[in-house]
Parts: sequence; structure tokens; C-alpha cells
Amino acid sequence: MPLKIKKPMPYQRIKPQDDCMREECGVFGIYRADSGVEPAEATYYGLFALQHRGQESAGIAVAKNGQIEYHKDMGLVSEVFKNGLEALCGAQAAIGHVRYSTTGDSHIANAQPLVISSKKGQIALAHNGNLINAKELREELENSGAIFQTTIDTEVIASLIAKNRNDGIIEAIKKTVSLLKGSYALVIMTPEEVIGVRDPKGIRPIALGKIDNSFVFASESCAFDTIGAEFIRDLRPGEIIVIDKKGLKSYQGMGETNTALCIFEFVYFARPDSDIDGISVHKARERAGARLAITNPVNADIVAAVPDSAMPAAMGYAEQSCIPYKKALAKNRYVGRTFIQPAQGKREIGVNVKLNPLKRNVHGKRIILVDDSIVRGTTSKRIVEMLKLAGAREVHMQISSPPIKFPCFFGIDTPSHDQLIGSKNSVEEIRKLIGADSLHYLSIEDLLKTVEGAACNFCVGCFNGEYPEDVSNLLKCGKKNSLDK
Ligand code: AMP
Repeated sequence: MPLKIKKPMPYQRIKPQDDCMREECGVFGIYRADSGVEPAEATYYGLFALQHRGQESAGIAVAKNGQIEYHKDMGLVSEVFKNGLEALCGAQAAIGHVRYSTTGDSHIANAQPLVISSKKGQIALAHNGNLINAKELREELENSGAIFQTTIDTEVIASLIAKNRNDGIIEAIKKTVSLLKGSYALVIMTPEEVIGVRDPKGIRPIALGKIDNSFVFASESCAFDTIGAEFIRDLRPGEIIVIDKKGLKSYQGMGETNTALCIFEFVYFARPDSDIDGISVHKARERAGARLAITNPVNADIVAAVPDSAMPAAMGYAEQSCIPYKKALAKNRYVGRTFIQPAQGKREIGVNVKLNPLKRNVHGKRIILVDDSIVRGTTSKRIVEMLKLAGAREVHMQISSPPIKFPCFFGIDTPSHDQLIGSKNSVEEIRKLIGADSLHYLSIEDLLKTVEGAACNFCVGCFNGEYPEDVSNLLKCGKKNSLDK
């Protein structure tokens, strides 16, 4: 069955009801400069490489013969495009998006790229990040007659760009970003060009690459490797880059000196084979493990990781401590990230389905078990139980980041205070709750040492409650995104 390609729909009103926005997403974009690359294919494979950033919906929009067409749906990239890409091929440019929303209902209307038509023409937009003033901006737009068809803050950006387009797309983007507060890595496409934008504080990553003579944007550099593109550089905070038939043009927008790249990209979110702002994610994780071994030495027989994200940290710990690295847990490779389950009961079953102890490796052993983070405590508690049932003598948890005490308002799905085990319990209380023989975390100072030399400063708001923007309004009403109902 061929793909059902959509032309942009006329606006329809959808109640901004139940979908709480938890935008942890991946974006990709390419403008074809020569015949060597097929934009739709490059975007498809780019999104595949970024699948870890979003597993709920996927979409590709292409600029073809002066028109924007798209296909998007709920599901993984492989599911959404299971009928092939043929109908999207032959385009001049393409952008793509993978979305990860982990709580509340999610529906197709909120999948991206968002494609809208205005009197100045069409725009497609893919967004990773979270606006904290979307509600105010949306209200102003609605008061002046704008109509919204989704509940995502991305549509507020699209609407502002459309509204300000009289002086051209770049001026419209500049005006729009001057109004936005929060985090955004954006890839925007018109029938003529593709534009990458990074928020002024550089909270979310986005990089520029090149394949043959064609420029590409991606949330992470691993996507360039997948399509055979070379990494050129990260977009600077506040930078706007246009790629079109004339090549590349950069506009330094409202970049700020007090930058705040999200440290959680290094802790958990990004792929280890990506470099962000000059730092290898894998190396940062290895260093975090090594620092844990220096600051929290424990006598044990083996060092093991909670797969996959903690493996580099466990290796770093093992190397530093000279305790052998062994596999203690087998991971079912067909299971995604446990967080994908919105209900706690399902989340617990999720851990069982995902991980199983290697009994022969753990029986009678004192284990140092390294994980990258404890959020609700579900994973650690279940894993300690599993390992003990499998005969482990002692389980010493070592966490390669500090306790998560505060929610994130800038695009990572850390839940609200009441669900964060670290917000209401001391380390000793958490240890008891998860049943470990000992529990150690990395300090904020040590975590920052693992990313020393980066081109940006860092946001560590989930660990210390100090955010790059004023979020007091959201904190008061317990919302993550100003559009949350
Ligand atoms: P929890 O079971 O709630 O304590 O979650 C901790 C586990 O989830 C760890 O093994 C992390 O690797 C993983 N994790 C941490 N942060 C996130 C996130 N924002 N989204 C999905 N998984 C996460």
C-alpha cells in the first residue's frame, strides 16, 4: 500500500485538552544541493538514528515542486514508513521529527512536522524543546484571531512565524525568537529553504553537517554518521542558519553569554556516539563513572551496568577501580525505554520485560551496579530485588549523576516533585527504599567536571532547582509546560 501523503489541512479546532506536552524529540533537516542525496531517504535514516529521542510518533515533510507534502503518524520510524518512501522522494528538501511524550494521551494531531499554510505560503516545522511562555503567547495570538489545531507549543511558534512573515522568513524567525522563552532546537522548511534555529541559551542541541554538497541539520551528530555526512559544527546558541540553493547563510540571533546546555543529554538522553558542543557523550559518561570510583570507592567483586545508558559509566568505574566489568543484566533488545509506560504498574512490568539477571555472573557476588540516574526509583528497586533473588551477596548502587530533585521545564520528562524519589527522600532513605546495600551519587561539581571544555555552560536545574529562566509561575501550579491543563 502506498504512503498516504497529506496536503496541509484547513485549520480545524481541537480542544486543547488532555495532552500534557513532554517534548523530548529529535529533529532532522536537509536541503539537496546536488543529485547525490535523496532528501526523504536521508531524513528517514537520520530519524532512525534519532529514534531514542522519540518513540511515540514520527514524520517527514518534503518540499517538492514548490509545495510541502508530508506523512506522519503514531509509532516508530519503521512503523510510520512501513509502506516505503516513494511518494516523498524526488523532493528538493526534507525535514523530519520523532516525538517522545510519556504521559497523558497523545494523538496524531500533535505529531510533527507541523505543516501550516498562511497567506505568505507554507511552512513545516519540527521542534525539540519546551516553551515556558507558550500559554501567554497563544492567548495573545487567539485574541488577535489566530486559530490553533493542536495543543503543542510548536504551533505557537509556527503561528508567530506566519504572522510576522511580511518582511521575509528570516525577519519573521528573528521576531518570533525574540518572543519565545524556553528551549528550542527548530528545523523549519518553506518550499524554498530549510532553516535551523537554536535557542539563545543553547539548552537543546542541534548540529550542522554536510553530505556531498548538501547541508543537513540534526539533533545529534550520530545522525550524520548514519547517513554518511560529515559533522561540521554545533549551531551556536541563538544562531539561525539557512540552507538553500545558494548554499548556507548564518545569522547570529540573540545568543546569550549565560548559556545553559542541558546536562541530562550527557547523563542519559543523547546517544553515546554523539558529540555535543565539543564533548563526546560516551567520554563524559566514562569520566562520570571514573569520578564515582574515586569519590565513592566500594569493595566488590564485579562492576556491572544497568544497560544500555549506564554502560560507559560502569566501564569508567571498572577501569578506575580495577574491579572487573561484568554483565549482570541481560536486556531484551526489543524493548524501548521503560519510561514509555505512563502508568506505574506497567512501568514495573516494563522493567521485568526489559531486564533479567545473568544468574551465573551474579550468584554469590558483591556487585557494584552503576546506573545513570534514579528518577522514580522503579528501576533500581526492581533490579536490586532481581539481583538478590539471583543470588547476589551485596548490591551497591552507584549513580553517575546527582539526585534528581526538581522537575525539568525545558524538555526532559522528569516528572513532578511528588513522583521524584530524590525530591522528598535523603540518600539513606532512598537506599532503604530500593533495598541496596549502599547507594552513592555523583556530586554536581563532579558531574560538571565530566563536561569540562564544552562550548556551553550547563543547566543543572533538575539537580539544584536553578533554572535558566524564571519558572516560578509553573512551579506554583505544578505544570511542566505553560500549555499544560
Ligand atoms: P526510575 O525507574 O523512574 O528511577 O528511572 C530510572 C531509569 O530510567 C534509569 O535507568 C535511567 O536510565 C532511565 N531514565 C532516566 N531519565 C529518563 C527519562 N527522562 N526518560 C526515560 N528514561 C529515563
